[in-house]
Amino acid sequence: MTGHWALYQDTLVPRQDAKTDIEDRGYQFGDGVYEVIRVYGGKLFLAEAHAKRMERSLRELRISFPNCVERVLKGATLLIEAEGIDDGIVYLQISRGAASRVHQFPTPDPIPVFSGTASPLPRPVQLMEQGCEALLLPDIRWLRNDIKSLNLLGAVLSKQQAKEAHCHEAILERNGILTEGSSSNLFIVSLGELLTHPANNLILNGITRQEILRLASEEAIPWKEKSFTVDELLAADEAFICGTTTEIMPLIQIISINEQNKHERHKIGSGLPGGVTRTLQQAFTRLVEACAAGSGNKP
Ligand code: PLP
Repeated sequence: MTGHWALYQDTLVPRQDAKTDIEDRGYQFGDGVYEVIRVYGGKLFLAEAHAKRMERSLRELRISFPNCVERVLKGATLLIEAEGIDDGIVYLQISRGAASRVHQFPTPDPIPVFSGTASPLPRPVQLMEQGCEALLLPDIRWLRNDIKSLNLLGAVLSKQQAKEAHCHEAILERNGILTEGSSSNLFIVSLGELLTHPANNLILNGITRQEILRLASEEAIPWKEKSFTVDELLAADEAFICGTTTEIMPLIQIISINEQNKHERHKIGSGLPGGVTRTLQQAFTRLVEACAAGSGNKP
């Protein structure tokens, strides 16, 4: 049984004792950051990269949180040990803290609230094998998606709409360009080349995305960080989404919404997971297995 423990200000506490002040700015403004770290075989996967990205997100929001990387790694380790997680995730968040509700930063700085939980989560093996469908929607989010902030309403509304269309993910389009998924990055394979949106303010620079680009180089798959249009996606040979919980998931069908508000279905490539996607999945699985075996763990 899990769900017994929570992290609160660097310390493990019984889950029911972890409480948020109703004037916490994370709660009132989404004023804070978060990370989700994968656990395989009881070991943290790519945790240092997540901790460093959290440190960057905090810096962008000007939240002072000394020794972020060490504290995140320690907090995550405490949680997986306390909960006995084998395959699962650690969720960690840091809000600016509690203060009377005004938009601007409170003075003096409130004490940031560092909290987290860990829970079991199996690998999404069936969807990784068969592929999934995605709903094409306008990207209604703000213009700082490079910050992993607690403000997720654009993602929440998009993912819900995808669910109602029986799709696994929403993929988002801004000014004719595909940016990413609501909780994943997006890749296509076109003319033998792997393409993904450049890591700028319009997307989250996913840890999985970065690892995939590294693996693509190792596998001698040509790649470019280059944006692509909806037409290029629909004409692509292959497409996939990726993320910490998603891993590498083939996109086999896109559903778009036409002017009459009707769904239109578009097969990607042959409508089956493609060869480049499979090669990357296999390389990624080798990393996962090395992590679980304790030899490839890069905490
Ligand atoms: N893009 C968005 C908007 C996300 O929310 C996520 C993960 O939650 C990703 C991309 C994938 O990032 P990562 O691979 O670091 O999990």
